[in-house]
Amino acid sequence: KDVLLEVRNLKKYFNAGGGTVKAVSDVTFNIKQGETLGVVGESGCGKSTMGRTILRLYDATEGQVLFEGKDVHKASPRELKKLRRDMQMIFQDPYASLNPRMTIGDIIGEALDLHKLASGVKRKERIQELLGLVGLKPDHINRFPHEFSGGQRQRIGIARALAVGPKFIVCDEPISALDVSIQAQVVNLLSDLQDKMGLTYLFIAHDLSMVKHMSDRVAVMYLGKIAELAVSEHLYSSPLHPYTQALLSAIPIPDPEVERRRQRIVLKGDVPSPMNPPSGCHFRTRCLFAMESCAKIEPVWQEVKPDHFVACHLYNEKMMGADVRKV
Ligand code: SF4
Ligand code: MG
Repeated sequence: KDVLLEVRNLKKYFNAGGGTVKAVSDVTFNIKQGETLGVVGESGCGKSTMGRTILRLYDATEGQVLFEGKDVHKASPRELKKLRRDMQMIFQDPYASLNPRMTIGDIIGEALDLHKLASGVKRKERIQELLGLVGLKPDHINRFPHEFSGGQRQRIGIARALAVGPKFIVCDEPISALDVSIQAQVVNLLSDLQDKMGLTYLFIAHDLSMVKHMSDRVAVMYLGKIAELAVSEHLYSSPLHPYTQALLSAIPIPDPEVERRRQRIVLKGDVPSPMNPPSGCHFRTRCLFAMESCAKIEPVWQEVKPDHFVACHLYNEKMMGADVRKV
């Protein structure tokens, strides 16, 4: 598949409380045309900030984001306006992200107006078409957000993102705030829309079980860095990074026989502050395999198998095959 988006050595630092928060600390990966790249990690690991920096809702501190080869952070105002049509976002909280004083027709229409995509009767028809597309009644166009359930509001947020005809959408935990019974419906809608419209997704979630079935590839983030990225089946069946291994061991397995025999990996301590991340490997204070070199040398981000990237000294080239410890 062709690469749609390239992220190269992207960093996003914030100044806060007299220090620097390294929210996104040098990440490099690409997203392929038509795929869903899942991004998981505990809250505060930088995944939302990364999503927003990719879309240039935040300026990058360093590094590049190339969308169809164009540098998003160097785009002129005119180029950026075009990019805003190509790249959209769906937000986590369908309550906070919709203006309660606007009708849903105006919420969706606002995006059309901003890009001068339709007016008059055409505008109304387009809004109704979008409502139908996300499974809402087209004649609810004059209703207000509070008249809808959480799942329906997330559908409105999706319609708003689709209004401008994007190619790429950052879905920032779009189902985390919804009832479990509604989550699958929204996931199914997103995947139907992807098929229908050839969309590419960066799908952010806080745990691996949530992205398992919908992602082509999955990236695991820890403290501002990507620890591992692989094709989903490889990541779930043969995780390489000790952090991924720990996260996977925490997902319950429905088969009680398998569950009973399984070793749960319990990480020590808490996630350190992104203001003062550990030297060397960010994960070393919690890693069961930490070696001396882990405190001194930052592990390189390397492709150890086709489309399987990991940042961990256990997989250093010279150690590969010789001293690779298995869990
Ligand atoms: Fe653990 Fe060292 Fe690998 Fe970091 S580099 S994950 S501390 S073994
Ligand atoms: Mg978040």
